[in-house]
Amino acid sequence: MALESLGGIISGMLLGRKAEAEDGDYYSNADGLLYCGKCHTQKETITDINGESFTVPCMCKCGEEEWERKEQEWQKEQHRIRIENLRVSGIADDSLRDVRFEDSDGCENIQKCQAFVDHWDEINAQNTGLLMSGPVGTGKTYAAACIANALIDRGVPVLMTNFPTILSTSKFEMNELVRQAMEYDLIIVDDLGVERDTDYSSETVYQFIDACYRRKKPMIVTTNLSLKDLRVQEGLRYKRIYDRVLQMCVPMVFTGESRRVEIRKEKANVLREIVFGKAEES
Ligand SMILES: [Zn+2]
Repeated sequence: MALESLGGIISGMLLGRKAEAEDGDYYSNADGLLYCGKCHTQKETITDINGESFTVPCMCKCGEEEWERKEQEWQKEQHRIRIENLRVSGIADDSLRDVRFEDSDGCENIQKCQAFVDHWDEINAQNTGLLMSGPVGTGKTYAAACIANALIDRGVPVLMTNFPTILSTSKFEMNELVRQAMEYDLIIVDDLGVERDTDYSSETVYQFIDACYRRKKPMIVTTNLSLKDLRVQEGLRYKRIYDRVLQMCVPMVFTGESRRVEIRKEKANVLREIVFGKAEES
């Protein structure tokens, strides 16, 4: 039997198929093969199997283009799914997942953060991070989230968490938390200094930061404490934490009016405009 070999089986599969004629397709008088009614290229071809000629289906030009378009669409969708998975796994707080540079006020610190993203490859190689310090509500978390999302958009795995979350981890789960964190390329930790001043807190925070230091993971740390506050922690159990952070991170100071105050003012202005038909004169 001719279909015993693999070649035979494949031939059998091909021979079993017939090109499907759609509306407008036609058989050529010249070669007797089926042609596409749209692009006028062959939908059938003649192939030689074991010295015998057979007519088998093939893809016409517009069919090939359609196939390629679908393939590209599929690839794009796979990429989108991968990026979204990175975002969901990396940024625990879902309200920070749609924070983007494009929507920011473009202030000097935001520009520096954009430069951080633009030079990510060098920064990653040098293992340099940022220490964002300043009063509550001056946009530190927002700026850090802009960096996180922009890098994730580029396919870089970023973990954005906070110290209270790290501290809520039990002693037994700590190694696993550190192991998982080290799978990310950049680690952003919000709110250094809000933890309670206990031996367990300081040991846990130190363990986490030290792991990043030893594994050469760039870190971005935010804190409501001022740089001066951080530097004068001498003698306290937090001194070694801040020393480590200052070894790894370049300070970026956030000053100016609180972003939350600004947002409140903007909202009040919008409301005033709706109710009274004019914005506040300032
Ligand atoms: Zn066609």
